[in-house]
Amino acid sequence: MSDCIFCKIISKEIPGNIAYEDDRILAFHDLEPQAPVHVLIVPKKHIASLDDVAQEDAELLGYLMSKVKDVAAGLGLENGYRVVINTGEDGFQTVKHLHIHLLGKRKMTWPPG
Ligand code: AMP
Ligand code: ZN
Repeated sequence: MSDCIFCKIISKEIPGNIAYEDDRILAFHDLEPQAPVHVLIVPKKHIASLDDVAQEDAELLGYLMSKVKDVAAGLGLENGYRVVINTGEDGFQTVKHLHIHLLGKRKMTWPPG
């Protein structure tokens, strides 16, 4: 996706502050952190949102979820963390490339805003 900002970070066309990378996923620090640690974890494959996941993406998404704990451990989130996936208009998704927000190093509240 040539006009997708996260695809450009994945391809290194624009710089990202990378926290973790392998052949299938990338984790990079959010530009506007909402917690002392705020990282976005994305599949390298462009999938617009949770609403656009195909059956063939199930294994990749399972992999993505299974790596959250490793990214969290690498960032020192041994006391817990929150993951958020904003989806669509009501979910306040602003970047149309599926991403997991990983937030930590502060006590979260519930319900979310
Ligand atoms: P969402 O609102 O769930 O779509 O989240 C998009 C997130 O991407 C926001 O938290 C932004 O601060 C973040 N963001 C946008 N552009 C960049 C960028 N170039 N590098 C890092 N984070 C970004
Ligand atoms: Zn993309």
